[in-house]
Amino acid sequence: MKIIPQLKVWMDGAYIDWDDANIHVMTHGLHYGTAIFEGIRCYASEGRLAAFRMNDHYKRLTDGARVYRMKMGYGIGDLCDATKGLLKANGLKESYVRPIVFTGYGEISPDMADAGVSVAICSLELGEYFGARAQEGITCVSSSWKRMAPEYLSPHVKSSANYLNSAMAKLEARDAGASECILYSHDGHVAEASSANIFLVRDGELITPPTEDGILPGITRDSILEMACRRGIVCHEKSILRDELYLADEVFLCGTASEITPVIGIDRRVIGKGAPGPLTCIMREWYSRITRGLDGEFRDWLDFVE
Ligand code: PMP
Repeated sequence: MKIIPQLKVWMDGAYIDWDDANIHVMTHGLHYGTAIFEGIRCYASEGRLAAFRMNDHYKRLTDGARVYRMKMGYGIGDLCDATKGLLKANGLKESYVRPIVFTGYGEISPDMADAGVSVAICSLELGEYFGARAQEGITCVSSSWKRMAPEYLSPHVKSSANYLNSAMAKLEARDAGASECILYSHDGHVAEASSANIFLVRDGELITPPTEDGILPGITRDSILEMACRRGIVCHEKSILRDELYLADEVFLCGTASEITPVIGIDRRVIGKGAPGPLTCIMREWYSRITRGLDGEFRDWLDFVE
């Protein structure tokens, strides 16, 4: 993450300086995890900046706010306009946008009814999430932490509270010398990585866990399903067991930050031939072309900043 102090931040309706975008330590959302956020990538396309599927990201954010009864007072259109204004003001060539909705200052109990809700949007530079390893393929380990079940907290909402789960799993991966972890649902199905969804390839077909298995319904996952559908690549949204991962021909992770990242080893087993598989490489290259506006068929996924 590269922070340039001259950047602006949009906060509760105003563009302010990066260094002024502060909150009090007693902010309710900080203490109780009552926050929902997004991550949106913006790519250089045709000499301009284009936000990838911005509407869909803000739809997920506003849906999350409804689930958790957070009244933010801005609709999807307002948030898109605020983001475009921010991107224009910051003038970065490529950018990662991080909107966050959180309960405010003034309450010292989990009761959030009167805590108030703030909304902030930052934009900053972000390179490849897995660095050089994204090209060669990464290794993963199974986490001992389960992904939270839907009767505890909604796995479908990108809430800050859910990321303590991801953070614990990610530390286990780091301890094991792996790049990522794989979390399983409470009933033993493959769910996802700490901040990415997962696909496997078997006999030329794509398989990814269904939303019922406790995953965040990723926008990148959805993009891959749509891309595959248009090219006649067969896709299944079905539960996956641990051994099916080990025996897959190919495995890859996908997410806004990590884009499409090949997985070449899991729990000390070699996946496929131990190198990024052919379908993974095709999808990765194709996704990169789409996000940069080089595939006219998917141009409506790009929101240009004029
Ligand atoms: N699962 C988790 C837990 C994530 O944090 C992310 C990243 N937002 C994803 C999946 C992928 O979602 P998306 O493709 O919308 O970025």
